[in-house]
Amino acid sequence: MQAMVLKRQGAKLEWTELPDRQPGAGEIRVKVAACGVCRTDLHVIDGELPGQILPIIPGHEIVGRIDAIGPGVSGLHMGDRVGIPWLGHTCGVCPYCRAQRENLCDAPLFTGFTRDGGFATATIADARFAFPLGEAGSDVGLAPLLCAGLIGWRSLVMAGEGKALGLYGFGAAAHILAQLAKWQGREVFAFTRPGDIAHQAFARSLGAVWAGGSDTPPPQPLDAAIIFATDGALVPVALKAVRKGGRVVCAGIHMSDIPSFPYSLLWEERQLLSVANLTRQDGLDFLKLVPEIGIVTKTTVYPLRQANQALSDLRAGRFDGAAVLTP
Ligand SMILES: [Zn+2]
Ligand SMILES: [Zn+2]
Repeated sequence: MQAMVLKRQGAKLEWTELPDRQPGAGEIRVKVAACGVCRTDLHVIDGELPGQILPIIPGHEIVGRIDAIGPGVSGLHMGDRVGIPWLGHTCGVCPYCRAQRENLCDAPLFTGFTRDGGFATATIADARFAFPLGEAGSDVGLAPLLCAGLIGWRSLVMAGEGKALGLYGFGAAAHILAQLAKWQGREVFAFTRPGDIAHQAFARSLGAVWAGGSDTPPPQPLDAAIIFATDGALVPVALKAVRKGGRVVCAGIHMSDIPSFPYSLLWEERQLLSVANLTRQDGLDFLKLVPEIGIVTKTTVYPLRQANQALSDLRAGRFDGAAVLTP
């Protein structure tokens, strides 16, 4: 197998020839057809997350087909198309796992971070954490759903039932969520970097009723806001934009420091929450809705060997939607 491997923090990924791996008990081997590129991959490469393991193959939005099955796997078959998400393994016995909050497991493994991921021609996964994807939709089109879509979904559920929804940062997750929120009958207010006309137009094309810079207040108070951007300064900005009792959900795995802000922004029962990882139930709930809603992802495809280019384009915001690597 071949892979793009992170060998040192902050370094470029290196094209590497590796011996083929065999799935162990409870595992499957998946021949990768497509793997999305997520902002979390940048945090992994930049060494911004605690618990980093090196060397590592990044990538946690994997679509591929099973080409080897280890002992003890049931319900999956050779040739099945599956999706492998960020949550790669949980212990099953910690208080969080036992309380149906496996996203907070005390001893998890994360795909592309603490176990090898999908920037490769093949990957080994814990079979219990692979989602059957069926045959509808293209490999490339489905890949961004595996993290951007799933985390977006979990964030949206946490944001509550409110109709007026603000999305801060209009990248891969927001472009999926905008379609979902519109389908639910919500109104999306999209915030981009000030002056980023292109992403604002992209948001409107996906049904946002308003799009503007994050330095501009929305035309009406929001019921809830989800922050996908990594700038901690957006937290007080979003709190200011939500109504009494409104919620602000931080959806990213990493943010810059949040500046101090007056208590009055939180007062009146506004709530500030974060979303961490996903549960398998989130995945099942969300993936079931995808064909019904007709979510279409906008993707820019790069050959696996050009993963570094895809990552630098993501960092610079050079494309709409999501980047996807294909071997
Ligand atoms: Zn656990
Ligand atoms: Zn991700």
